[in-house]
Amino acid sequence: MRDLLLRWFAANGRDLPWRRTRDPYAILVSEVMLQQTQVARVVPRYLEWLERWPTVAALAAASTADVLRDWQGLGYNRRALNLQRAAREVAANGWPDDLTRLPGVGPYTAAAVGCFAFERAELPVDVNVRRVRERTGSEFDHTCAQALMDLGATVCLARVPRCGECPLTAVCPSRGRRFEPERKQGRFEGSFRQRRARALRSILDGCDPADAAAVAALAADGLVQVEGGVVSPPA
Ligand code: SF4
Repeated sequence: MRDLLLRWFAANGRDLPWRRTRDPYAILVSEVMLQQTQVARVVPRYLEWLERWPTVAALAAASTADVLRDWQGLGYNRRALNLQRAAREVAANGWPDDLTRLPGVGPYTAAAVGCFAFERAELPVDVNVRRVRERTGSEFDHTCAQALMDLGATVCLARVPRCGECPLTAVCPSRGRRFEPERKQGRFEGSFRQRRARALRSILDGCDPADAAAVAALAADGLVQVEGGVVSPPA
């Protein structure tokens, strides 16, 4: 299965900008952006981000308000805050062996940075990788990471996999099956997440957010500071 998969990937793999580098900072940026945002939306934002803050040192030295402003539109703003905290940690102490010690870096992101930047023998298991492993019954090793991600994203789709186009179809025990829809994320429109996003945008624009509950939630996450009743972006 591994050979079939890698041969398919060599001919069909997606050309994504973070695959052209081994820079751990660039790969961390891409992985954090990809945590909750689709690939097509991440590509231009990733390129802009690295143009503005090309290194750990540049991001560490930036004002947090600028970092949050630049993140607008990607959602889940806490990721930007943690990304800068991670950059500050790395700028001060270097990359830790245990990457999960960095703010906002969980086991998956640590495995991805470890595998793609530091060439560690760890397979980062995202939703696409997990799906292909479960359906094929094959574990695959870290050398298959990008190929598994692409197969899961473009061929072995969640509900109706394209088994007819799949390089593993002759050996996959799940070929031809249909699957139940996976649980969708709650609607953004009308949600508290939307209120938080609006309030943060107002604060970054220097306006009064007028949504006390949203401001309290932002303050609890460290995304804004409140002093003497005045709300402002973090320093
Ligand atoms: S044959 Fe079908 S179910 Fe199996 S890995 Fe390929 S696309 Fe997925």
